[in-house]
Amino acid sequence: MAIRLIVKEPDEVLHKIAKAVAKITPNVQKLLDDMADTMYDAEGVGLAAPQVGILKRLIVVDADEEHGLIKMINPEIIQSEGEQFGPEGCLSIPGINGDVRRAETVTVRGLDREGNEITITGSGLLARAFQHEIDHLNGVLFTDIAEKVYEINAERSQTGSE
Ligand SMILES: [Zn+2]
Repeated sequence: MAIRLIVKEPDEVLHKIAKAVAKITPNVQKLLDDMADTMYDAEGVGLAAPQVGILKRLIVVDADEEHGLIKMINPEIIQSEGEQFGPEGCLSIPGINGDVRRAETVTVRGLDREGNEITITGSGLLARAFQHEIDHLNGVLFTDIAEKVYEINAERSQTGSE
């Protein structure tokens, strides 16, 4: 178990496009495991590799009980449906939330930690987390696409940071 440092805005690594993972090595698997530890430590529901300073297409999400922890390599949204609009936060942009329009349901295809192809369909918070994390792989932050961005009250508990 290892917790990595979460990169914060305005670090330029957050604005770059991450590279596809060509080969799943022990280092890649260790990075996925560390990302999960880091996400839980920060009480987030998702984390993308650029947020720990590494420009590889890797994400972890844990946003609903049905799916639990998902570690995904080279994730791609292959289908989107419906719409949801609501507040979103990011572990790389503490203290800020924004109202973001997202698809209500997405189907994501990628590889699991062992390199098997997996396809997962999720709705609600899980769909939001997938879209948020895959945006990170393309150098896009929620503040780039939010319709309204606002500071959050430190006393109010923040839910769903990614
Ligand atoms: Zn984020």
